[in-house]
Amino acid sequence: MPTTPHDSSLELAARLDSHARVCQFVSSRPLSSSIHEVVLAGQAALLCGVPGNDVMVQLTNPADKLVRRRYSVHGVDEELDQFTLWITTAHEGPGSVWARNARPGDDVDIVGPRGKIVLDPEADWHLFMGDITCLGSAYRMGQSIEAPGQVVFIVETDHADDALTTSFDEGIAVTGIFVDRGVRSKDDPAGLLSGLSAFAFPPERGHAYLFGEFHVMRALRVALLDRGLDDESISMKAFWRVGRNNADHGEPEKGD
Ligand SMILES: Cc1cc2nc3c(=O)[nH]c(=O)nc-3n(C[C@H](O)[C@H](O)[C@H](O)COP(=O)(O)OP(=O)(O)OC[C@H]3O[C@@H](n4cnc5c(N)ncnc54)[C@H](O)[C@@H]3O)c2cc1C
Repeated sequence: MPTTPHDSSLELAARLDSHARVCQFVSSRPLSSSIHEVVLAGQAALLCGVPGNDVMVQLTNPADKLVRRRYSVHGVDEELDQFTLWITTAHEGPGSVWARNARPGDDVDIVGPRGKIVLDPEADWHLFMGDITCLGSAYRMGQSIEAPGQVVFIVETDHADDALTTSFDEGIAVTGIFVDRGVRSKDDPAGLLSGLSAFAFPPERGHAYLFGEFHVMRALRVALLDRGLDDESISMKAFWRVGRNNADHGEPEKGD
């Protein structure tokens, strides 16, 4: 079993000023119809960075090619030296297959921490929007807000049990709006836009964080600008794209 990361991971980490390590797969369990919680062990503090960061997992696709997939860190247990990812598994892809089927003790090649979107320390309220792929990151970021603070989650779900919740510090005002996707397609922003229209922006300074499907993210950004948020107060990251595998480096293809 390899104890050093793949050469390409070492090169990537050096280029990104990040770290490459071999972790061990501890467990995977379904939390809901569409989400598995995956626990990995090893170098947790080094690899997981700050709330908002993700890790890159090296996997093999069906053509036997090495590809990477990125997953936001949901939680870190420094005592156990473990970290947790919430992975969407209701579609077929190298990432979802790995999350469902990896075995305890399997080696996993990880590059981390990755990601540039972190909590805006100047914001009085924080709005997280997206599909269920955003939950791991949104909850870790929300839990890092210092009281007093305000956090709002507007999340679209395919199944009622995907509306996973968590707890926050006393002193944090929390609003959760879960929107049932119903028969809408996964690149249709209408559900999240209707959720957004139910939320009246507080008067103080706010910051929106958008994580989810490529086309939906673009529409949400426009809607938030229309509602008066300025560009610097919107952090957006497309996590995946309807009808296309993410590219081998883990990001959805850009362009039309
Ligand atoms: C910075 C970053 C952080 C991310 N964090 C998370 C995270 O915390 N949790 C998480 O679940 N995902 C997260 N993602 C998204 C995840 O990396 C992608 O969904 C990835 O494409 C899944 O890889 P895959 O190999 O399973 O499917 P792919 O090979 O990419 O795609 C296979 C097929 O499944 C479809 N598909 C992919 N993802 C989804 C989905 N979520 N729902 C429905 N259909 C889908 C594609 O359109 C394609 O048709 C993140 C992505 C980025 C860039």
